[in-house]
Amino acid sequence: MPDTIFARILRGEIPCHRVYEDDHVLAFLDINPLSRGHTLVIPKQIAATLDQLSDESAAALGRALPRIARAVMAATGTRDYNVLQSNGARAHQAVFHVHFHIIPKADDGSGLGIGWKPQQLDDAEARKLAADLSGRLAAA
Ligand code: 5GP
Repeated sequence: MPDTIFARILRGEIPCHRVYEDDHVLAFLDINPLSRGHTLVIPKQIAATLDQLSDESAAALGRALPRIARAVMAATGTRDYNVLQSNGARAHQAVFHVHFHIIPKADDGSGLGIGWKPQQLDDAEARKLAADLSGRLAAA
């Protein structure tokens, strides 16, 4: 697995503005924020995408994210925010170490812009897909 800028931050080779750390999680300010308070939350586990995470890392992230979100909202005075987590280059992932963005949506409009192009869910296809997914999850 290739080294990443976030692995280097974890090793202390590159500085960051750290906001939170525990045994499994580190959070720090994004170097190119979309809005004030834009924070990155990463596992200490070296993993490129979310599906590769251990249960332990996933649980630690799940525990930390709402806490960090509360702090970001309190510090920025913002109520609205997005949590963005991208996997793979086509999904706009640039750093191949799992990370969650917490991005306040400020009154001035700064924050995450979303292009959302919904399609119609076909009922027959949805039944097949849901059965496929639930079967896989039951076996996991
Ligand atoms: P992605 O597009 O992979 O979801 O987002 C990667 C994020 O990492 C970007 O928002 C970018 O600004 C941030 N980033 C890249 N390099 C560094 C760095 O060296 N330090 C910090 N704090 N953030 C970085």
